[in-house]
Amino acid sequence: MKCPKCSRPVDHEADTCYSCGFSIVDAREIFGANGVQMSRVQDAAHCLRKRDRDELEDTLDSLQARFPQVLFCTYLDALNQPDQVTQLGFWLVNHATVKGAEFARPNENAFLVILDLNHKQIGFSLGYFAEFLLTEEDAYRVLQAARPYLVNGDHGRALCVLFKKLGRVLSKRARQLKKRRYEPRPATVEVPNLLELPPHPGPVPEATGPVPEPSPAPEPVQHRPTPSTELPPLLPNGALR
Ligand SMILES: [Zn+2]
Repeated sequence: MKCPKCSRPVDHEADTCYSCGFSIVDAREIFGANGVQMSRVQDAAHCLRKRDRDELEDTLDSLQARFPQVLFCTYLDALNQPDQVTQLGFWLVNHATVKGAEFARPNENAFLVILDLNHKQIGFSLGYFAEFLLTEEDAYRVLQAARPYLVNGDHGRALCVLFKKLGRVLSKRARQLKKRRYEPRPATVEVPNLLELPPHPGPVPEATGPVPEPSPAPEPVQHRPTPSTELPPLLPNGALR
């Protein structure tokens, strides 16, 4: 994943960004430590007309039918500070419960689109598993598809175009994953060269001297829950803003 503040790569296991030190604690200081409930289309900026919202809800319905485990949602606001889109998105993925999604579509599988009308910024915040489904290049392409409509202030149309494009990208990704799953395996047992390392130079000439002690087995990697699983208890009827 990338740091929501400085955009440098951050390891999934890391609690804070190595470069700028940003963590969920900083996000809680800005946006609060409580849990919130939001709609699938949360228009805190009140910028969507009824027909925009209806069209967007239809688009999301059709996406949800095609990808029943995936959570598609969007949050529109007019933020006070610039460059808070990704930080707010990161906080929402960790703190928000989307009405109607609950257990069937957890936040780990979320594709959240944040739109800041004040600073004309838009961004994706992805749940832990969603990150494996959308490459950075594809995310950029999806956001670019919405750009002409955003420039004209047609936010509803922009989000419809964006989510439809995302659907096409995810269908392609699903086909790739399915193909990979059913590809015939070679008959001989081969170690897959996942990192595309050059072939081993061959047997090393017999060494003279004492035989080195075998190195101890590496420590098993401890699995820690991802940030998005650390949802704090929700306040009843908590609301955004
Ligand atoms: Zn950072």
